Amino acid sequence: QAKRLQASWLSYQTGMEEETARLLAWESELLQAISENQFVLYYQPQLSLRTNLLEGFEVLVRWQHPQRGLLMPGEFLPLCEQLGLSQVLDLVILRNAIASIQRWQQQGVHIPLAINMSPIHFEQEGLKQELKGLLQQYAVSPEMVELEVTENTAMQDMEKGSNFALELQQMGIKVSIDDFGTGYSSLAYLRKMPIEKIKIDRSFVMDMTSNDSDMMIVKTMIKLAHGLGKRILAEGVETVEQLNLLRSLSCDAVQGYYIAKPLPETEALAFFRAYPR
Ligand code: C2E
Ligand code: CA
Ligand code: CA
Ligand code: CA
Repeated sequence: QAKRLQASWLSYQTGMEEETARLLAWESELLQAISENQFVLYYQPQLSLRTNLLEGFEVLVRWQHPQRGLLMPGEFLPLCEQLGLSQVLDLVILRNAIASIQRWQQQGVHIPLAINMSPIHFEQEGLKQELKGLLQQYAVSPEMVELEVTENTAMQDMEKGSNFALELQQMGIKVSIDDFGTGYSSLAYLRKMPIEKIKIDRSFVMDMTSNDSDMMIVKTMIKLAHGLGKRILAEGVETVEQLNLLRSLSCDAVQGYYIAKPLPETEALAFFRAYPR
């Protein structure tokens, strides 16, 4: 009995050591990736259903790993968070994205970018200063930048969340609520928060053409947003049926594979230029 216990303790300990070793390896690779800027931005178009014009692109990060190839956010963002590197990475992405806006403008392409913020970053004092500095350095106007924060992040500390959103709004930067419907929102605060738009999570859009309750949820979210004077965008739109249904429900904007997948820079620029204006 004692022997068996000892054996299982040893294998548990070995497991822990392997886990620690794995994290340490990732940590040094991530630190190197950050210092060498191995991150690549992809851009997914957002289409206004009111004007039928492109209204922006969402920035989605990929890691061009020297050995492992192109890694998706799901493969490294959780590690970043575990290692306490989310804020640093957010700033690297922010800098890259604002540099993109400048580079695109120099080529005659004027379109806002929506940038995702990791949960712990929102409400941080330093972020505002960082943003101000970057906008100045790259001569980018604040109206070109939108920050996406998840519902839970924004609502965690609602007082702080809405103050922070207010300060960003005063700077001219828009904030939108991401993955709406997946977390816990207080409707009262949603009304109070100076947010630009609400993004309906893909999980509700996915089955809305076949599932009546999902359709009702989406319909209600759209009504709610409009009742609060906010714009609303549906993400994960993959079919023309979904698009038409959303249009008939007066959804303001859509994003998803049906319009375009997240595109590397050259393709995003080509997509923008080819789109009717
Ligand atoms: P998200 O913010 O909800 O982004 C939407 C995700 O859905 C993206 O996955 C996008 O590629 C995918 N998507 C877009 N349209 C469709 C569609 O029609 N069908 C399907 N099946 N999927 C669609 P991705 O790029 O793998 O990003 C996953 C998550 O990682 C994002 O979810 C976001 O939470 C996070 N993330 C991505 N880029 C960044 C970043 O630069 N910074 C931070 N902090 N988080 C990021
Ligand atoms: Ca997002
Ligand atoms: Ca989202
Ligand atoms: Ca989502």
